[in-house]
Amino acid sequence: MSEQQYDLIVVGSGGGALTGAAVAARAGLSVAVVERTGYLGGTSAYSGGACWLPGSQVQQRAGLPDSTEGARAYLEAILPDAADAAVSAKLDAFLAHSPELVASLEEDDAMSFDWLPFSEYYDAPGRVPMGRSIQPASIKRDELREDVAALVRPPVELDRVGAPGRRTLSGGQALIARLATIVLRDGGTVLTEHRMTDLLTGDDGRVVGVRAETPSGEVELTARAVLIAAGGFEGDAAMRTEHGVPGEVAWSMAPRGTNAGEPITAAAGLGAATDFSALGWFCPGLEQPDGGGSFTLGFRSGLMVDATGNRYGNECLPYDRFGRLMAAAPERIPSWFVFDSSEGGRLPAIAMPEGDPAEHLAAGTWVQADTISELAEAAGLPAEALTASVERYNGFCETGTDDDFGRGADEYDTFFTAGTGPNKALTPCDQGPFFAARFVLSDLGTKGGLVTDAAARVLRTDGTAIPGLYASSNSTASVFGPVYPGPGAPLGSAMVFASLAVRDLLAD
Ligand SMILES: Cc1cc2nc3c(=O)[nH]c(=O)nc-3n(C[C@H](O)[C@H](O)[C@H](O)COP(=O)(O)OP(=O)(O)OC[C@H]3O[C@@H](n4cnc5c(N)ncnc54)[C@H](O)[C@@H]3O)c2cc1C
Repeated sequence: MSEQQYDLIVVGSGGGALTGAAVAARAGLSVAVVERTGYLGGTSAYSGGACWLPGSQVQQRAGLPDSTEGARAYLEAILPDAADAAVSAKLDAFLAHSPELVASLEEDDAMSFDWLPFSEYYDAPGRVPMGRSIQPASIKRDELREDVAALVRPPVELDRVGAPGRRTLSGGQALIARLATIVLRDGGTVLTEHRMTDLLTGDDGRVVGVRAETPSGEVELTARAVLIAAGGFEGDAAMRTEHGVPGEVAWSMAPRGTNAGEPITAAAGLGAATDFSALGWFCPGLEQPDGGGSFTLGFRSGLMVDATGNRYGNECLPYDRFGRLMAAAPERIPSWFVFDSSEGGRLPAIAMPEGDPAEHLAAGTWVQADTISELAEAAGLPAEALTASVERYNGFCETGTDDDFGRGADEYDTFFTAGTGPNKALTPCDQGPFFAARFVLSDLGTKGGLVTDAAARVLRTDGTAIPGLYASSNSTASVFGPVYPGPGAPLGSAMVFASLAVRDLLAD
């Protein structure tokens, strides 16, 4: 057992955690990052690195009609509880601090952002055409410090299906690499292969550190404060069941063997309030031969049907909204996505990762046939219903109007599509051979957890703060409740509340 004293221990190493660690290290605090795996970044490293941080200098540089007020109007229009006093105080803090955080991060040579055109997820007042998300600039691997290059988690396609790594780190990998650069440059300590199991408390109930399992035994690390930013509990089957989160561990996008919710449980053990009602950041998941699910978005053609062979929604909906539709009825998991040969037998969508079509066909996660009724038989779907669904869908492609679900009517629907017919989002499914790919309900993480205030302090059930304990990221009940406002909402909110935690600690 060894003992060390820091100003701040950050549990986890995703975008929120490393923002907290970087802000703390830049402010001169001694900080330790405690990460259970051998890599930094978690799901954040897999991500596109889009950050929903409204009203910042980056949107201004890009000439966007974005503002804090516009973002507030948008959130007020889409969040069911925006008027609730506690929610409203957190939204105020999020909106006020987003531009400050971006400005302060961009003061550092290690960090710069660009606007990322990517439609927001709701047609509501305050929406910015083509979105207001920003993304860290890409960075070449050989421009990184060696320790950082070795620590950044590989991209999802390498981790999941062994595809080659990347010379240039973009999106989430760039975010993690840039933040880790700041942490290590400014004297932060990174402790990988440290799985936090418990929180340590002093006589007065203040949190004073963590206990962690390491390959060489258990350690206790002490600090003035602890920031939990260690993902949700998507990797723990029992917690998923307990809190009614649909889907399965294998279908989740968190790196394997991570995000099992121990930090949430440890805080709850000290009396922290929890709210699990928001469940997850959902998405359709392309089932993989190994039983995994791959986050899929941007369907360009084809149609999704349930076990009855019928469509049940607009396939071009933002992925969390489509995921929620999948979760709404048992016959939708699994679903089958029916597509034709117009893209040479590849899935007409972005699946992360797609996997090898030949392996899918061999495993039966995809089936192929010359006619729709043979395809139905191969997939175990009712042939008459599937044939009728495809014919009806093809009719909509001809007229340009999806009379059933309005596909193609919203800006988001056509963001990824390039159809040449009257509706860009409606490309017919009429070139044999035909394919059907099995889809499950995946998630980018759960979004229920510890209840925190506008300063990211972890609250007890009576509303008082647990001294010395902060939380952010998917370890907390999301500030956005059950809604996914737009690209970058998970990372943006995680980063802001981690930074606010450090601000509160500095004022302590
Ligand atoms: C392909 C893909 C693209 C995405 N694109 C975007 C995007 O562009 N923008 C966006 O905002 N979101 C995106 N998301 C979602 C987003 O990446 C996640 O929801 C978010 O990164 C979660 O952040 P986190 O810090 O909560 O968890 P993570 O990033 O998963 O980090 C948690 C870390 O904590 C560690 N940990 C867990 N338990 C412990 C413990 N007990 N002790 C020590 N360490 C522990 C884990 O090992 C992990 O490294 C995407 C997701 C995927 C899969």
